[in-house]
Amino acid sequence: MSPEKHVIEIQSGSKKIKIGDGSFTVMAGPCSIESYQQFFSTAKMVAEHGASLLRGGVWKLRTSSKSFQGLGSEALEIAQKVTKELDMGITIEVTDPRQIEELYSMVSMFQVGSRNMHNYALLKELAKQDKPVLLKRGFAALVSEWVNAAEYVNQGSDKPKVILCERGIRTFETSTRNTLDLNSAIYAKKNTPYPVIIDPSHGVGIANLVPDLALASTALGIDGLIMEVHPNPKEALSDGMQALTFENFENLMTKTTKVLTALDRSLQRMQ
Ligand code: PEP
Ligand code: MN
Repeated sequence: MSPEKHVIEIQSGSKKIKIGDGSFTVMAGPCSIESYQQFFSTAKMVAEHGASLLRGGVWKLRTSSKSFQGLGSEALEIAQKVTKELDMGITIEVTDPRQIEELYSMVSMFQVGSRNMHNYALLKELAKQDKPVLLKRGFAALVSEWVNAAEYVNQGSDKPKVILCERGIRTFETSTRNTLDLNSAIYAKKNTPYPVIIDPSHGVGIANLVPDLALASTALGIDGLIMEVHPNPKEALSDGMQALTFENFENLMTKTTKVLTALDRSLQRMQ
């Protein structure tokens, strides 16, 4: 494996951000885009407090077929409007190769969800396009399988485009939703060329533990965080139990900046 570290450039609105160059990037937004008001208010707040890329689900892969499945094309229209208004980029999960074309013009980065890390048909299709890809770790995947999946996506590309995301794994422990595997995150950071970010929201699945895990992740030395935020978590249509409130997010960003300063690092900000 090449020890040479990849730096990924992401176009976020009219600005470019870099991941893997030593800076620290925060990506945030709701689990699902639920309405214009919900997405706009969340996006504006996270941007004002240091996020440089938005997130928001459009098609949701839910364990139960009866759970909210995402607003689909209505969510895409909302995402398009809000990203334009705020001059911000967004990462959206692609759940099916047939969505790639439709998503291409509007995402800054594709997201491959944990459930699709082994979907090699999807990975091969993503290899054919040139936008960055956030590759979430399968919740039961070995680091070697995760890295092999990344190689599928990078195959044939003249510039690196994969960012790895640790989002918690399934273990014997059930008191938290998942077990955030900091071991594997730092192992991947030190032993592979890929930038690594951490998703403490899915990693622990309990909102009042997310800031602690986010700070531990920041101290670990990875390239950034991706987190779920909602204006009213109790009313969220998906993953409300792990969503940060606006106040939680703002407080966490103050502490994150302090941890970074202590480590001679800094938060990448939209200029
Ligand atoms: C998400 O980001 O909302 C999500 C579904 O994540 P994961 O694929 O890690 O479960
Ligand atoms: Mn979610």
